[in-house]
Parts: sequence; C-alpha cells; structure tokens
Amino acid sequence: MEILKTIADYRQWRKAMTPDQGVGFVPTMGALHAGHLKLVASSRGRDPLTVVSIFVNPLQFGPAEDFARYPRPFDEDSRLCREAGVAAIFAPEASDFYAPDFSTFCEVAGLDLHLCGAARPGHFRGVCTVVLKLFNIVQPQRAYFGQKDIQQALILKKMVRDLSLDLEMEIVETLREPSGLALSSRNVFLSPDERSRATALSRGLFLAREAWAKGGKSAAALKGIMRGEIEASSPTRIDYIEAVSQSALAPLDTLDVPAVLALAVFYGKTRLIDNILLG
Ligand code: AMP
Repeated sequence: MEILKTIADYRQWRKAMTPDQGVGFVPTMGALHAGHLKLVASSRGRDPLTVVSIFVNPLQFGPAEDFARYPRPFDEDSRLCREAGVAAIFAPEASDFYAPDFSTFCEVAGLDLHLCGAARPGHFRGVCTVVLKLFNIVQPQRAYFGQKDIQQALILKKMVRDLSLDLEMEIVETLREPSGLALSSRNVFLSPDERSRATALSRGLFLAREAWAKGGKSAAALKGIMRGEIEASSPTRIDYIEAVSQSALAPLDTLDVPAVLALAVFYGKTRLIDNILLG
C-alpha cells in the first residue's frame, strides 16, 4: 500500500496506472472505524483500486468547533487500510493542500439551509470545496459516502450532477454498534455514561420509523416521538430534530414524499448526528 503525502506524489502514482485500473475513492478525516471500512469494502467489491484520503479539512470546521482536538491516529489508520486492501492512502498536509492565498470555493445553493447547514454556517461550502479538489486530484471512477452524513452525501451528489463531474456517487448505509449507536470518529470523546445515553438517538429514530410504518405521517407527531426518547436520556443540548424531504432537504409537515428523519444532539461537548430514510 502506498502512502502519498503530497499532491505531486499522488499524481505521479495515478499517472502510472493503466486505464483499466479505475479508482474507487473513500474520502475521510481519519480516525477510521468499521463504518469507514464498510465504504472501503464497498469499493473493494467493485473498483480495481481503492484510494482512501485522510485529511482533517480546516475549511469545514467553524471557529468554535473541534478541529484542534479531532483525533489523528495516523499509524492505526494506515494499518486498518493496509489490512482492508486499500491501494493507496492520500494524506496531504493542510499547508500543501491549501496555499496561503487560497480563495476559491464551491457551494451547492439551497440544500444547506436546514439540518447541519443551519447549525454550522459555511460547513458544506468547506466540504464541497475539499471534495471537489480531492476529486480533481484523485480522479476516481466512483466515490463512496456514508448515509450517516446524509446531508453531505446528497449535497455532494448534487454537486457532481450540477457540475457534470465524470464519476459515480455511492451512498453506503450507516453501520451501527449492537446498541444502535452509529459509528463515528467522535464517539471516542463520549464517556461511558454519555455513550450509553446516546443510544437514545437511534432508539428515537427507530420508534418514529415504526410509527410511520403504521401510517403515522404527521411530522410533528414523529418529531415528538424522537424528542420524547431523546429528552429522557438527558442530552446536554438538542441541536435539531427534523423531518425533511429527500429531494430538497426542506422541512415537511406531512411525510407523503420520500423523507429523512435527522437529528443532531450534544452529549457533553460531543455533537452526534444520525438519520434514517423513510420511503
Ligand atoms: P468522516 O471521516 O467522519 O468525514 O467520514 C468519512 C466517510 O465515512 C463519510 O462519507 C461518512 O459518512 C462515512 N461514515 C462515517 N460514519 C459512518 C458509519 N457509521 N457508517 C457508514 N459510513 C460512515
């Protein structure tokens, strides 16, 4: 497995590949877990070569967010990638990736008005910019994103369509612990007590899905079910609990179109997100 730390090194490696050696690309911020490896496995099943990028992207963190303390266990990440059959890790330094006078950004207007877009101004502009730049460097035939970050995945899918990028986008289902907690690099920040309280997120989502499957289509009622379950777990703060359309990511009153139930909740200083798709 190659570890490529500069854009020039990656390009040299990629140029040596023949046209049939298509790349499946899994962009990450590192601190890899089984959820990331599920994306890698999806690519390994379809693409001749799998490339993982590891880059904690400063552009997508707000000033009060956890950029500095975000975990960076690079040696362990490399080991996991090697064992998973990854062909190359692309892990640039921020200083090589963004010139000091970098000033070009990519924004998908509209889909970032709600959910995490409302709570984290500028976040998706940072995500779109880094992913577009990574696509330009990595040159993948296919790219893999987790449903866990559903707003990110749908925004990037739209970016690819709007800008006619020549690659396929795959969204991979969220991997969960047996407790229901969605795997996340941020789970390491949870105390044992917070971790057990945070299982309320998936319980709330699953209870709402059961009510929906029995015919409950009122967004207020479904959000009430989630809120009840989550409030009972004494969260530090509820950022949002929403029911939005899959097409526009805009709030719904009635779930009569394909929908997403999504939430973001703090336990201690750790902000966790989760979602399920309905319809
Ligand atoms: P991150 O390193 O958190 O930026 O995540 C990199 C990719 O892994 C994103 O596409 C995430 O949506 C995806 N991912 C994160 N957690 C999970 C999970 N539990 N199951 C599946 N994919 C995930």
